[in-house]
Amino acid sequence: MYDPPPEPPSESDCCGTGCADCVFDVYDRECARWRRRRRIGEGDRLRRDLLSATTHKPYRIVSARPLGDDVHAYRFAATPESVGRLPVAYTQHVHIRLADGLSRPYTPVALGDDDCSFDVLIKAYLGGRFTGRLLEMTVGDVVAVRGPSGGVRHDGYDSIVMFGGGTGVAAFVGLIGSLLDNDKCETLLRLHYLCKTLDGVLMRKELAEYAAYWNCSVHLYLTREHDWSQCSKSFWYNENITEGRISQDGMAEIIDRQQNLRTLWLICGNDEFNQYFFNSLQNHNIKQDHIQLLDNTVKSLKIS
Ligand SMILES: Cc1cc2nc3c(=O)[nH]c(=O)nc-3n(C[C@H](O)[C@H](O)[C@H](O)COP(=O)(O)OP(=O)(O)OC[C@H]3O[C@@H](n4cnc5c(N)ncnc54)[C@H](O)[C@@H]3O)c2cc1C
Repeated sequence: MYDPPPEPPSESDCCGTGCADCVFDVYDRECARWRRRRRIGEGDRLRRDLLSATTHKPYRIVSARPLGDDVHAYRFAATPESVGRLPVAYTQHVHIRLADGLSRPYTPVALGDDDCSFDVLIKAYLGGRFTGRLLEMTVGDVVAVRGPSGGVRHDGYDSIVMFGGGTGVAAFVGLIGSLLDNDKCETLLRLHYLCKTLDGVLMRKELAEYAAYWNCSVHLYLTREHDWSQCSKSFWYNENITEGRISQDGMAEIIDRQQNLRTLWLICGNDEFNQYFFNSLQNHNIKQDHIQLLDNTVKSLKIS
């Protein structure tokens, strides 16, 4: 049983800019959770000693490979090598910090079953301070990681509809996989994933496998595929792919299909993407309580 008390953050773990969710607030919350687990005798075999929401732990780069469209798949694992699974729920993110102190949040798409590893998809931006430096690092190099943070609660819903754009799909891949792995889960899952081109579709194989389940549908939208007739020849048999974006009529249809279902609406993409889908849902009278934004953005959302 690995459930040591949360570690207090050091002064250097706090950036000192008055974050809404300061690492010291996180620490207080984690302590309350830990006390509750102890009270009700709920321990588990997760390696809570290797990932802390309050202090950074060393992780090494196990692998790094390009996936196209400036996106790279990275695997990080606790160092030294350790056995067990990291205490991360899908849709939660971790903060990865480089040697110079620069830190950014990323959302694991997969967790190693027994090697304390996690996989993330990272899009490199032109002039990106973090991604530029990470790309220069190699397998074996060590970063610091703390987390997990955020995440969505989805219990009590009949259906989850997800809108993902580009690497935003990372937030949903693990969630869908873990729900489908659970034989008892009857939640209807509908993923709408917008991507520029077919080559840029991330985790295409996994998504095609998910779409074969009775309770999961995956709809891809290719927004900048120039040679549609050529591209459509390489679609797989169970792929549902549309040219262009989701129009307002398309949104109306998607929303209509959810009538009589208690639905959770999740959005994860860039700023414009998030604002578009958030507005569309609000225009169709979806209550804000049922919409969650998995914040992957640089600007804050305008809420009307
Ligand atoms: C909760 C959360 C989870 C995240 N999960 C992931 C993830 O799983 N994979 C992933 O690739 N990224 C993810 N991000 C974004 C990530 O944290 C960084 O912001 C991103 O990698 C860019 O960092 P940078 O320092 O290289 O770019 P910066 O130096 O901060 O920015 C460089 C340029 O890129 C633009 N830019 C930066 N970030 C974005 C963005 N997200 N969308 C559009 N333009 C942008 C900036 O406007 C700027 O012009 C997540 C963000 C949040 C808040």
